[in-house]
Amino acid sequence: MRIGIDLGGTSVAAGLVDDAYKVLFRTSGKTAGCKTEHELFVVINKCVYDLLEKSGVSIDDIKSIGIGCPGSTDAVRGVVNVADNLPLLNTPVVKILNDEFKKPVLIDNDANCAAWGEYKTGIAKYHENMVMITIGTGIGGGIIINGKLIPGKENHAGEIGHMVVDIHGKRCACGRIGCWETIASTRALIDKVKSETEHVPFTILGNVVSENNGIVNGKTLFTAMKRGCKISKSIFSDYIELLAVGVMNIIEIFRPDMIVLGGGISREGDTLINPLREYIGETSTRIETSSLDDNAGIIGAALLHLK
Ligand SMILES: [Zn+2]
Repeated sequence: MRIGIDLGGTSVAAGLVDDAYKVLFRTSGKTAGCKTEHELFVVINKCVYDLLEKSGVSIDDIKSIGIGCPGSTDAVRGVVNVADNLPLLNTPVVKILNDEFKKPVLIDNDANCAAWGEYKTGIAKYHENMVMITIGTGIGGGIIINGKLIPGKENHAGEIGHMVVDIHGKRCACGRIGCWETIASTRALIDKVKSETEHVPFTILGNVVSENNGIVNGKTLFTAMKRGCKISKSIFSDYIELLAVGVMNIIEIFRPDMIVLGGGISREGDTLINPLREYIGETSTRIETSSLDDNAGIIGAALLHLK
């Protein structure tokens, strides 16, 4: 058995993964609010200890620990160079976890782990050329060609959220103008819903927001659409166009067997994927949503030794 850890800016999840690549137990902890590296590792370590306790498995029976980290992750040196929203700066993550648990530790970028999980045991199984697109606050990517994750220099390949699609667009967190994630991330969609409801509050969409105490999240638009909100449908159809721009570019560059969309929004399933497929039209690349959902990153991290 192995442990996979999926580290994010708001939470961390750990899972016990068996030899059939199934997650037997899961635990999680909150990383939002961790101000120092020390605080962060207290949360991560507790998550792993909770997992061992919950499952009744001894650390002696764990073969290795894998961790997927956001930001710039150096898989060779075992270091996170820098991560947005987490107190990690040239942090030797592998060494810290190895000192704590005395087990082999492997690390990679979170989107690479999600891609690896989907490829080894999810919807992209047997699809040796696949691209995983993780849609959240930003857009991450993991690229698998001929069954191998493409690391690129310093493990920086696959930053598909930062491909520039609109040179007259908005400034991205990375400093450039018009990156794909400024228009097609869940955050971009949420911002659009917020500005729409501020300008035109008395709509079905506005009602959904008020019912949720003014909070807009990734589900708001979909809830309003289900109630027949025309404005929401129009926002969504614009969003599909913006999402399709990047997906079409990825298809043309890699011509993968499959593109898998992950992140919270992928749980909308056919509601998301069917209009996207329709917009893109005839293509030999299959476009699917994640089949492992939250567990893709955990499984991929636990299976990094198979890379
Ligand atoms: Zn950018």
